Amino acid sequence: MTVAVVGAGLAGLSAAWALEGAGAGAAADVVVLDAGRRPGGMIVTERRDGFVVEGGPDGFLAAEPDIQELAREVGIEERLVDQVARGAALWTGRRLEPLAEGKAAELLGIQVNANAGTQFRTFTTGMADVVEALVACLVPRLRTTQGVTAIAPAARGWRLSFTGASSLDAEAVILAVPAWVAARLLAGVGVSAARELDTVLYAPSITVSLAYRADQVPGTLEGTGFVAAPDAGGAVRACTYTWRKYPNRAPDGFALLRAFVGPVDGDPASIAHAQLAAILGIEGDPLWTRVFHWPRGLPRYPRGHPERVAAVRERLSRLAPLAIAGAGFDGAGVSACVKSGREAAREILGRLGSHVRG
Ligand SMILES: Cc1cc2nc3c(=O)[nH]c(=O)nc-3n(C[C@H](O)[C@H](O)[C@H](O)COP(=O)(O)OP(=O)(O)OC[C@H]3O[C@@H](n4cnc5c(N)ncnc54)[C@H](O)[C@@H]3O)c2cc1C
Repeated sequence: MTVAVVGAGLAGLSAAWALEGAGAGAAADVVVLDAGRRPGGMIVTERRDGFVVEGGPDGFLAAEPDIQELAREVGIEERLVDQVARGAALWTGRRLEPLAEGKAAELLGIQVNANAGTQFRTFTTGMADVVEALVACLVPRLRTTQGVTAIAPAARGWRLSFTGASSLDAEAVILAVPAWVAARLLAGVGVSAARELDTVLYAPSITVSLAYRADQVPGTLEGTGFVAAPDAGGAVRACTYTWRKYPNRAPDGFALLRAFVGPVDGDPASIAHAQLAAILGIEGDPLWTRVFHWPRGLPRYPRGHPERVAAVRERLSRLAPLAIAGAGFDGAGVSACVKSGREAAREILGRLGSHVRG
């Protein structure tokens, strides 16, 4: 018996790990397939010369349990670290002003649970710590550069087709891919309601990490960073004082900033540096910069999204075991993705169990 998890982002890896943990690995082959060359999806951490550079997420709310439970399960609980600095500022276009707690996410259009507090956590050497721990547990089951192009019903379950005309039969499938990919794959098996999942909007974004010597950056910077007011002008929407926010993001004597930049004409790194130099009073050029482009970054859900997802799941419950998981459906935060992946695994295990008993 084969259970295929399509997508090796955090949701897919969490689903595969939950299947393994429930003993499905003994009864079934769990296979994780990803179109990309590396697992982790939007989680990308680069470590260079003592710096920890995040391309995608850099942390999660300390009140969110799922990712921390997962960290315990894969043996990296001691790698959880708390945010050090607190409080953010508002860039008005003319000056930095203190910003009320919780306002930063709102200004950035990030949907957060109002009861989840504002204290963040991460991992000692970046968010990839959790991906690497999962991959170490799942390595024989993981196949990269395996983009699934179609799903079709098979005699027992599903047939997955890949780029290059090969295929794989699986009794059960978890689609842990972005909403627009799931929309296409599910429409192909006649789940017409799934076309509507394409309405999830993935906002484009660019992150620019910039390294400086500590003496280039004013010692008076306070808090975790700033968010630009909607009418502030300029391309930088927000900036994290990374080396102040979390421990060990830069070696002693150095500073690391990360800017969120909107779509720009020209080099995002030069644009970010010029603007940050003006806002923060940085002297001289950065030692190096690293740019990550996210043409489809954080998902935003249109009105009626939970109802659309529920309708798709209701339809899927009447087909051979097939589940959806991930940021496109159940919340964009990394902890929500872990939860979503685990719930998909539970759903599939339940379906396979009843299959076996039936
Ligand atoms: C710049 C940025 C900053 C962020 N900051 C934070 C943060 O600080 N805190 C937080 O909680 N969240 C943050 N997020 C959001 C969070 O990182 C994501 O929502 C989450 O990582 C998504 O996980 P996922 O597994 O659902 O999807 P993804 O990570 O998108 O993984 C989906 C996987 O599916 C694969 N795939 C796609 N199509 C196919 C196919 N046809 N066949 C096989 N594989 C396929 C992809 O290659 C990918 O690996 C941020 C996101 C971005 C972009």
